[in-house]
Amino acid sequence: MTGQEKTEGCVFCAIPGGDEALTYLLHRGAHWYVVLNRYPYNGGHLLLVLNRHAATLGECAPQELQEMAQLLAVMERALVECFNPDGLNCGYNGGRSAGAGIPEHLHLHMLPRWAGDTNFMSTIGETRVMPLTLDQAWVRLRPVLARLAGAGA
Ligand SMILES: [Zn+2]
Repeated sequence: MTGQEKTEGCVFCAIPGGDEALTYLLHRGAHWYVVLNRYPYNGGHLLLVLNRHAATLGECAPQELQEMAQLLAVMERALVECFNPDGLNCGYNGGRSAGAGIPEHLHLHMLPRWAGDTNFMSTIGETRVMPLTLDQAWVRLRPVLARLAGAGA
């Protein structure tokens, strides 16, 4: 693996070194990892996080961008298989003004949506009651992501 630089005090740099059951890490790719968002807008809210501490898509190498697309497709399949949602949101918040909580470490969001759930934008920054706990989501998604990623999706 290349690009192992870490920045002290960065939550996203610390997650891969922690206990997966506590950090809710779901999958380790060559350049990115998949983790549950601790502050989900909806049950099953996933984050795709770059392994190294870089802020923008423009700083990514071609192989990092390629794996990003592959893993987003795996995440989409896993969410559909596990939760059968009515839809999905996928996005990148570039900078704090765009809503990024940790703008200095690149990450993308993907979350399942159901008809009648609260509007995505209005839920940012609010604490919501989740029908699915983080533990439940982690247990369900982990084997499915492992299988789909291993299948070379
Ligand atoms: Zn970092």
